[in-house]
Amino acid sequence: NREWHLQSRPVGWPKPEDFALVEAPVPTPGEGQILVRNAYVSVDPYMRGRMSAAKSYAAPYELGKVMQGGAVGEVVASNAEGFSVGDHVLHFFGWREYAALDAQHAVKVDASAAPLSTYLGVLGMTGLTAYAGLLRTASFKEGDVVFVSGAAGAVGSQVGQIAKLKGASRVIGSAGSDEKVKLLLEEYGFDAAFNYKNGPVAEQLREAAPDGIDVYFDNVGGDHLEAAIGSLNQGGRIAVCGMISVYNNTEPAPGPRNLARLIQTRGRIEGFLVGDHYDLQPQFVQEVGPWVASGALKYRETVVEGIENNLEAFLGVLRGDNTGKMIVKL
Ligand code: NDP
Repeated sequence: NREWHLQSRPVGWPKPEDFALVEAPVPTPGEGQILVRNAYVSVDPYMRGRMSAAKSYAAPYELGKVMQGGAVGEVVASNAEGFSVGDHVLHFFGWREYAALDAQHAVKVDASAAPLSTYLGVLGMTGLTAYAGLLRTASFKEGDVVFVSGAAGAVGSQVGQIAKLKGASRVIGSAGSDEKVKLLLEEYGFDAAFNYKNGPVAEQLREAAPDGIDVYFDNVGGDHLEAAIGSLNQGGRIAVCGMISVYNNTEPAPGPRNLARLIQTRGRIEGFLVGDHYDLQPQFVQEVGPWVASGALKYRETVVEGIENNLEAFLGVLRGDNTGKMIVKL
């Protein structure tokens, strides 16, 4: 059983020396616990925050201890009522091959209904993030012009497609490579898309959305946020989901210089956490599940193999190596 420990708190970009892959005994499940062999492990941008000591919505990872994160796996031993060997479960003890955990912290998932990895992505946490952030926080309504950054990523690609499926009049996405832009336009049905590395975001956005935008779903922060405020229409709404462009900063990044535009536009900017929106989970599965099954909503996964590559996969998310959800397959 191998597991990843945080050895030191990264300053700026995380370095391999900040982590260690440690050999540990397979844990023994206690009363009320199950032993799970992980099949797919999630790596997510928010984990960067947990590597720092600063208090946030999720507790910092402890130094010298195994890290945590979403995972799905198979129950290989059970001391808990209602869980049998062979069951598949979603839980929060990733970054390791085997986990013993209280059964109350595991959610059974149906391996015959959808591929197991999708419970970490398109039908899981990142999917619900897209759904709740767009529909609830950004108060999306039919006819809106929607702009989403990180648009080829797990959350962003789903935001754009849900907006289209629910009647957006125009959906614009930004991403970090021409190949990703092509995917947005040719496979995901975005009306316009641009590579933010090819020129100033504000200019490219004005060109892609000549009549302005009603919703901005922010995954990136920085100049993307400023550009979105600059293009915001009357009554526009900005849902702040993430700001990946600042996660490795060692100094606070300057804020948007054009916030005063929120006055004339009566614009609203609001952050949200998916954890507050699990009441939407049944509705999300009911509405999005069939779109995924029918192919109306497309998704990609970037799958990295082996626990030994868990760290590289995580660093890859920060670099933009992934298209769609980044997953580690064990
Ligand atoms: P993604 O699958 O979108 O992966 C992250 C992507 O960010 C990369 O692929 C990369 O794509 C892009 N990126 C990296 N650095 C930059 C940069 N400097 N500028 C612009 N883009 C960059 O991850 P997720 O879908 O899991 O998460 C997307 C966002 O949502 C993150 O900010 C995350 O923190 C946030 N989040 C928030 C939640 C909440 O509850 N509020 C829950 C889940 C996620 P590219 O090639 O395009 O640069």
